[in-house]
Amino acid sequence: MDYNRELLNTIKSESYVSKKVIRKDSPGKGAGLFAVENITKNEIVSISGGLIIEAREWSTFREKYGDYAYFIESNFLIAPLNPKDPSDDWRMNHCCHPNCGIKGQIVFVALKDIQVGEELTFDYAMTESDPDYSVQLNCEKSECRKKFTGNDWKSKEIQSKYSGYFSLYIQEKINNS
Ligand SMILES: [Zn+2]
Repeated sequence: MDYNRELLNTIKSESYVSKKVIRKDSPGKGAGLFAVENITKNEIVSISGGLIIEAREWSTFREKYGDYAYFIESNFLIAPLNPKDPSDDWRMNHCCHPNCGIKGQIVFVALKDIQVGEELTFDYAMTESDPDYSVQLNCEKSECRKKFTGNDWKSKEIQSKYSGYFSLYIQEKINNS
């Protein structure tokens, strides 16, 4: 199989970011996504595209190419085509009090109305369920959990907070638990 180079050369990005959203530097956090127009609850803000990686390949991929990837099923992740300089949709930061969530597996939507100037954020608990994964959090919100783990989706409080905005595979775990 060979890719169609002519077609690939016409593509600026493998993914979609709403025209109402721009990437800019977020103090202390590197790049982030910000609203340049008001966004309505449930409006699509970005759609991921890229490489599909099996979970067993993830640690090798991560060592070689870095951290940009997220789970779309228990055993599969999606990663940017250019992990060293990912497209803007990969720049959405975590927050413990986010304004975006997931619809399906790769579509990010506003979970509340978002005003011009606000940073767009989601919660890692919406996509991450690897029990061995953890990371320190510092989102400067009073409800900051300080530490994220791949078990956060199991919290009843988080389940009700993000009901309808988890990645489909996590929502199925919740429904079956
Ligand atoms: Zn936090």
